[in-house]
Amino acid sequence: MPPNPTEAVLRVVLPLPLPRAFDYLPPEGHAIDPGTVGCRVRVPFGTRELVGFVDAIGPPDSDAPEVRRAIAVLDREPLLHGEMLATLRWTARYYQAPLGEVVATAMPASLRNGDALPETCVFGWVLTEAGRTGIAGLRRGTRTRALADRIAASPVEEAALDDGLDGWRVAARALARRGYAERVALAPAPGAGPAASVAVLNPAQRAAADAAIAAHGSFQPLLLEGVTGSGKTEVYLEAIADCIARGRQALVLVPEIGLTPQMLRRFRARLGFAVHVLHSGLADGERARAWTAMARGEGRVLVGTRSAIFTPLPDAGLIVVDEEHDASYKQQDGVRYHARDLALVRAKALAVPVVLGSATPSLESLQHAIAGRYLHLQLRRRAAEAAPPVVRVVDMRKRVLEGGLSKDAIDAIAATLERGEQVLVFRNRRGYAPVLLCHDCGWSARCARCDAASKGMAMTVHGNGRTLLCHHCGARRPAPRACPDCGGLALHPQGEGTERIEEALAARFPGATLLRIDRGTTRHRDALEKHFADIGDRPGILVGTQMLAKGHDLPNLTLVCVVGVDEGLFSADFRAPEKLAQLLVQVSGRAGRAGKPGQVLLQTHHPDHPLLATLLGGGYPAFAALELAQREAAAFPPYGYLALLRAEAPREDALREFLADAKAAFEPGDAAVAIHGPLPAPMPRRAGRMRAQLHLHSVKRPALQAALAAWMPRLYELKSQRKARWSLDVDPVELA
Ligand code: ADP
Ligand code: ZN
Ligand code: ZN
Repeated sequence: MPPNPTEAVLRVVLPLPLPRAFDYLPPEGHAIDPGTVGCRVRVPFGTRELVGFVDAIGPPDSDAPEVRRAIAVLDREPLLHGEMLATLRWTARYYQAPLGEVVATAMPASLRNGDALPETCVFGWVLTEAGRTGIAGLRRGTRTRALADRIAASPVEEAALDDGLDGWRVAARALARRGYAERVALAPAPGAGPAASVAVLNPAQRAAADAAIAAHGSFQPLLLEGVTGSGKTEVYLEAIADCIARGRQALVLVPEIGLTPQMLRRFRARLGFAVHVLHSGLADGERARAWTAMARGEGRVLVGTRSAIFTPLPDAGLIVVDEEHDASYKQQDGVRYHARDLALVRAKALAVPVVLGSATPSLESLQHAIAGRYLHLQLRRRAAEAAPPVVRVVDMRKRVLEGGLSKDAIDAIAATLERGEQVLVFRNRRGYAPVLLCHDCGWSARCARCDAASKGMAMTVHGNGRTLLCHHCGARRPAPRACPDCGGLALHPQGEGTERIEEALAARFPGATLLRIDRGTTRHRDALEKHFADIGDRPGILVGTQMLAKGHDLPNLTLVCVVGVDEGLFSADFRAPEKLAQLLVQVSGRAGRAGKPGQVLLQTHHPDHPLLATLLGGGYPAFAALELAQREAAAFPPYGYLALLRAEAPREDALREFLADAKAAFEPGDAAVAIHGPLPAPMPRRAGRMRAQLHLHSVKRPALQAALAAWMPRLYELKSQRKARWSLDVDPVELA
């Protein structure tokens, strides 16, 4: 239908990688008013129907050939508005991402798909009339009976049952089947209110909490730098309790792996409130419920992972980012936002304090603190009478090893088990061995679809030597019995992955409880929790990758053995030293958390490497000072700003053509903006696709932003862009 010049149209952004809005006439009989902006709308698109979001209303574009009619406006009032909408627009501009994709990233799946807003009331369970009569017939000592007793007098909230009664859901279903119990909606209870802190804050904690509390009502970033176990969480809780007491909402971001039931129990116990939770492991309905409860101002506290940063907070009072250095805050595909950075943007727009906590702050945040832009609060000592762990370097040169472990490590493990305590053996390499090598001719198993340094990537040996797996593309094949090159039988796995270390430990300590934790054994957060629950406080050995570096608190863990970090010492990525230092400090911090002295053994072939020497001599602060000086000399972040255009294509010529065109289309606009490349990606071929990059660099952030904003529309217009897969990453945390 031709546009009627008097009828306004809806400018709708759609969940598509297209940086533009589409015009639609309002649904039949729907009067447009400014309140339509921010509502979801169902529209025809090609032969499909999509749920979009009304970005603006305006006069029809006179050149538009045909404007279709929207099917339905899905919200009576805007779902996104005010600060949240402004932040989403900012996100789209800053990360050069289409607004429609940003909105889709921001909303829980069910809302993105057009579902109605869910009920936000809290649910609880209570016995029915029949249940109260029948309860006497239930056998004592069973879970079912325990639940029945608990809910006999009045309804109990599900969150409260979660805290006290393991497996209550199964019992509840059993009671419901007999007509004994029912699920009821409860009025959002004010809760018991904050309980007093379990511990009296020590002076450093008190000062930190007071600083956050004093900043109430104004934008103020605070960097809380506190060694592991120094009581940062108590500081957050104190500040959150104050925020709630003032009738405001608090948002707490935690890393993917940090959100443990143990942590949530601690929050609930201290705050006395139904803490809402948002993470990728929840069912769609649960996520929508938490989001909506906060958006309606009913929810008081939200604890969530990365995407929780996109939750509307009409009564915002405080934002906390725990483990602010954690890489999981950066989204690595789609809209490549950084949740910690967005926390700063939102705190400013909302005029609230934002607490960034870490034992190993990112160099970005440290630099802000040093420059005086953030308040720098330090907790230098562990809170609970726990001494810092003693770290010892074990020089591996010319040592005889047992499954990758030195004699020192084996002896220390034996002594620790002897004392009835736990050991963590850390190795950041899953699988059995990193390489399968022929000792006769030097052949090694390589992936046919992935290359680095003009050589195929080594395939990792898994399954006790039976399988080869490429960790980069997932290719899998059986390990050959004989060398494909020389036919010899001298094929041997080289080096150690977690599987092989586990095997060696099982042989050496046959009676000990042994638990391996890596992506092979532990795909889900729940599985990780279950592993920890299984081992409890019993003596034993945990072997694993960086999944073990944080999360659940293990009070009986007193020895940490770090097996082989040497790969990380020689990486080409400029952030590799920072990541390695953070990992070493974090994993070491797991030793000796509850009053028992902790010990860390660090095995290396490079005991004199400057990174290790600095870290051991002066701790993370000394390392950070040195590293910041090097970043400054190179004008790398946080002293310069980067963006990366990544591209890949099945064919080299298509890739080269696109990147040449893209480079030609770039106008720096400012002498301070530079473009470098095309450069091969650190892995120039992955899963059979060729990969290369353009690097954009500037010491002036606004100049880089302006150049990127002018560049993006030109990229979409390039003919060669259709033959390549590409994406722009602003402030990349990985150059791979
Ligand atoms: P972080 O978050 O810095 O790693 P936590 O807040 O988890 O540290 O505290 C570490 C341990 O010390 C916890 O067991 C906690 O209960 C305890 N703790 C924290 N603050 C105090 C305090 N002021 N007095 C005694 N124990 C404390
Ligand atoms: Zn051979
Ligand atoms: Zn591969």
